Order: sequence, then structure tokens, then C-alpha cells
Amino acid sequence: MLDFRLSAKQQEYREFAHQIALEEMRPISLECDRTEQIPESFFWQMQKRFRGGVEGQARQFRQPGERQDALLAMLANEEMAWGDAALATAMPGPGLAAPPILAQGSPEQQEKFLRIYRDGQLHWGALALTEPGIGSDVAGMATTARLEGEEWVIDGHKHYITNGARADLIITFATIDKSMGRAGIRPFVVPKGTPGLVIGRIEAKMGLRASQTTELIFENCRIPKDHLLAGREAGAKGGFKAAMGTLDATRPMVGALAVGICRAAYEGAQAWYQHELPAGYAPYQRREIAEKLEELRQEIQMARLLVWRAAWMADQRISNSKEASMCKAYAGQLVMKVTAEAVRLSSPGEMTETKQFIHKWFRDAKVFDIFEGTAQIQRLVIARRMFPKVSIP
Ligand SMILES: Cc1cc2nc3c(=O)[nH]c(=O)nc-3n(C[C@H](O)[C@H](O)[C@H](O)COP(=O)(O)OP(=O)(O)OC[C@H]3O[C@@H](n4cnc5c(N)ncnc54)[C@H](O)[C@@H]3O)c2cc1C
Repeated sequence: MLDFRLSAKQQEYREFAHQIALEEMRPISLECDRTEQIPESFFWQMQKRFRGGVEGQARQFRQPGERQDALLAMLANEEMAWGDAALATAMPGPGLAAPPILAQGSPEQQEKFLRIYRDGQLHWGALALTEPGIGSDVAGMATTARLEGEEWVIDGHKHYITNGARADLIITFATIDKSMGRAGIRPFVVPKGTPGLVIGRIEAKMGLRASQTTELIFENCRIPKDHLLAGREAGAKGGFKAAMGTLDATRPMVGALAVGICRAAYEGAQAWYQHELPAGYAPYQRREIAEKLEELRQEIQMARLLVWRAAWMADQRISNSKEASMCKAYAGQLVMKVTAEAVRLSSPGEMTETKQFIHKWFRDAKVFDIFEGTAQIQRLVIARRMFPKVSIP
């Protein structure tokens, strides 16, 4: 049976998340963007309202007997980004560290590494893949890990790591043998405060300014042997591939965040049109604006359906690499279009708060086309699956 409706429980969770976005995020959004700071009271408030994190809270809205963690996460992410995408990416919790630990870690590792996130205190997680010399193509990764007795020794340099300075655990990718290319890359768990882990520059950014993006330097950074997360067996080659598989879970979340900003910008442009449109607009000009808004509304709905499909497939344990990339590529580019149109449409007249928000969303949008794989890379992922016999670099 095909059914596009949300269940009553799902709708309830969506409204729960929307209320938080409205009451906790929107009121501080512009100030956090201006100062590039988030008050600690916001984190505690999130901790209080999302008991057990976004995922923990979602469990209370789950239909018994049904898998719907991904779908509930999508609903929350869209609402959070509607509130403020920078604050959404800075929420306390394991964040991007969780999927690799859950997917690759042994039961003992899962318990050991994720335990702290249940202690009621503020904790974050991060994932460090990107280096100054590598982003999309990780084959040339320069960060190395070598085994010395009972310890892995990590040396290298990562940058643009979301929540890197706050994270209690950083899933760090390093090569154990450069000659193996991608097959030599492994994920390691590096705890905060490990000697040799140096927190570098916090980047000043155009968008998502309140979300911290950090440089990390690893200098003779020693972690216990059992902090290797995947590819533990001798001679294993699949550590990196397996860890990258978690992107199938995280890309729809990024797509959902992009849809949330799209919706915010669309509603902002609509509010401007209804309440702030300067006098003197001819009827044909009004029609043009109304038609453009309707075009955007349709495209936002398309993006949301792509996101929901990828999430639904994840919940049903159906392989969704192609669909996860499709929704990320589409929503990541649409958010740039919608926010740019909102800026264009609302440009006449004096600067109002509505416009300040629209301008912020325009700046926030760009990164959704970059992180978790650019749109070009998503299309390559899709093309490889559509045309498996054609060699695509
Ligand atoms: C705000 C922010 C937060 C981030 N958070 C994290 C994080 O938490 N962890 C992390 O590890 N990284 C993070 N990143 C890094 C991000 O994932 C990378 O910037 C991204 O993967 C692109 O890599 P790159 O910047 O090296 O660009 P490159 O890979 O050098 O790409 C540059 C351009 O070339 C294009 N391109 C590259 N290869 C191809 C190809 N084969 N075919 C066609 N076009 C191609 C790309 O699409 C892009 O347009 C973050 C980045 C930002 C800006």
C-alpha cells in the first residue's frame, strides 16, 4: 500500500520538534550568527527538551513494532534547520560519531564509546575525514596510523571538522598503509584530551557561522589498540568502505536539514510578499512573485519526498546509496536556489528582520552543497550505480 501521510505519532513528533525550533532556536538565531557563539544555556535547554538526544526522544514517538528511526530523525532535522541550521548541527550528542560506531563497532566498543552520551551531561562527537589536501577523493589521505605495541600512533592534519573542538570522541580516518590507497584507510576513535591531539583554528565562515568548524592536528597521538573501529581482522580491506557506508544514513539527514532551510526561506519570502511588499507593485509583478513562490513550493515538496524515500528505505533495511545521494544532491542544490530567490524577491524596500533572516539562510545554504559530498560527487555515486559497466573516474 502506498501512503504519503504521516501517522499521528509521527506528526506529533514533528510538532514537538517544531515547537523547540520556534521557542529555542529562532529567538537567538540572528545573534548567534552575528557573534559566532552559542550560549551554553541553549545546549542545556536542548538536553532537557530532547531527553536522550534527538534519537532517544524519537523512541517515545515510535510506532510499536515498526522501524522508523530514520524517518523520525528526518522529521526532527527538517524542523531544527527551519529553526536554525547552525544550532541544529551544534546540538549536544554523538552526532556524526554515532553512525560509524553503531555500524562498525563491536558490542563492547559501542558500549564503551557511547556510554558517556547517556550521563545527562553535555557531550559532543565529531567525524574527521577531510584534510587540507583531500576532500572528495580520499585516496591520497596523508594522516597515518601505525601500530606500536598495544597502541596506534596517529600523525596528520584534518580541517573543517564540525564540532571538532567540543567533541568528546572524534572518529578519525587515517591510513595504515598509503600504498593500499582507499583500502588502507581505517576509522579510529580518538577521545578528547588525548596527548598529541591539538585543537587548531576555528574557522570564520560565511554561513553556519555559529556552528564550530575546526582544524585538528595529530602529533604522535597515541590511542589504545582497541580504538580501531573497522577492519579489525588481520589483512582486512573493507574498513574504509564499511565506514563510508554510514553516509547512506547521514546524507538523507543533510538533505532534511537543507529542506528545513528551504522551507524557512520560502516562508520568509511569502511573509515579505504578504506583509512587507512596498506599494506600487503592478498586478503582473505580484502575479510573477506568486508564481515563483509556487514553483519553489513544488520543488521543496519534491526534495522532501526524495528525503523521506531515502529515510524510509533505511528504516526498511533496503540498500539506499543511490537514493541517499539523490536526495542530498537535489536538496543541497535546491536550498541555494530557494534562498537566492528569496533574497532576490524580497530585495526592494528597507531592511527588516524578515530580510535579515533571509540573508542569513542564503549564507547558510551553500555548505549543504559541499559537506557529506558535493553535488558533483553525489551524481558520480548515482552514475556508478546506474551505469556499472562504464568506467567513471
Ligand atoms: C561548514 C563545513 C563543515 C564540514 N564538516 C566536516 C566534518 O565534520 N568532517 C569532515 O571530515 N569534513 C567536513 N567538511 C569538509 C567537507 O566534507 C569537504 O569540504 C567536502 O567533502 C569537499 O572537499 P574539498 O573541500 O576538499 O573539495 P574538493 O574535493 O577539492 O572539491 C572541489 C570541487 O571539485 C569538485 N570535484 C572534486 N572531485 C570531482 C570529480 N571527481 N568530479 C567532478 N567534480 C569533482 C567538487 O565537487 C568541488 O566542487 C566540512 C566542510 C564545511 C565547509
